Amino acid sequence: MTALRIDGKALSRELRAEIAQRTAALAARGRRPGLAVILVGDDPASQIYVRDKVKACGEAGIHSVLERYDAAFTEADLLLRIRALNDDPAIHGILVQMPLPRHIDPHKVIETISPRKDVDGYSVLSAGELLTGLPGFRPCTPYGCMKLIASTGIDLRGKHAVVIGRSNTVGKPMALLLLQAHATVTICHSATPDLGHHTRQADVVVAAVGRPHVLAGDMVKPGAVVIDVGINRGADGKLCGDVDFAAVSEVAGHVTPVPGGVGPMTITMLLMNTVESAERLLQPPAREAA
Ligand code: NAP
Repeated sequence: MTALRIDGKALSRELRAEIAQRTAALAARGRRPGLAVILVGDDPASQIYVRDKVKACGEAGIHSVLERYDAAFTEADLLLRIRALNDDPAIHGILVQMPLPRHIDPHKVIETISPRKDVDGYSVLSAGELLTGLPGFRPCTPYGCMKLIASTGIDLRGKHAVVIGRSNTVGKPMALLLLQAHATVTICHSATPDLGHHTRQADVVVAAVGRPHVLAGDMVKPGAVVIDVGINRGADGKLCGDVDFAAVSEVAGHVTPVPGGVGPMTITMLLMNTVESAERLLQPPAREAA
């Protein structure tokens, strides 16, 4: 079998066209969605990520503000800036690029962002909303993975999904989203003995580890959907995922490439959350609506 390649770039283009339409409709009602991106320090990868996010906002018609501070910026000053953005009516989403310099507590920063503007979905409230099935912001990478799986047309109900990785930003929310879609979910991590024993039974595998070739061809059930979240540099210096793409493509039914799979979807879902935030702020508070 040769797996079908799930094209994250093409799906992103489709979704971004929809986002641009929703943005234009909001702008026509005087509420252009706005995203504030804060970068502290000069981490080279972070600089690329924030540049890409701001560029994607511009292409979708979303207003964006990029605030850059040097690595010595204090935690107190950062929290002040976040509070000011919480009160700014032109801003519907606030993203603080991680990692932060060591003297700044990321948890304090995330919890200072207004829950109504937590478009990264990293706050304790957003995590609780996901856990309990309430509406709220879903973390962008797992949210994008769900869209990629949906694009295959496969119904997750009753399927066995294996998530490799249990981080708060990818693995755990991914498992909860799969559970919400009625999959039977197994979470594997660094202490899981015999990873292949689990993945060989899976109809869907999501690999979010950060190590090349964690998932080999002989660890995949024929016809499975394989989503590769990992971003690594191979021995040849080229970008690669966690999945042995060539070998897994011989066995799986669908597989995402790296690059061009999950990566573009993460930014797309950030835009989607920002638009959803602006739409939500147009709704009257629940008590008034009743
Ligand atoms: P992380 O916080 O380092 O978590 C990695 C997880 O993998 C941990 O739960 C760890 O287990 C588990 N793990 C490590 N070695 C393992 C092994 N040999 N077998 C099974 N599990 C193993 O990383 P993350 O933030 O979740 O990110 C994961 C990868 O996705 C990274 O490559 C990252 O760059 C990439 N990523 C990509 C995007 C995108 O947009 N494409 C977005 C976010 C992240 P323990 O918990 O036991 O340590």
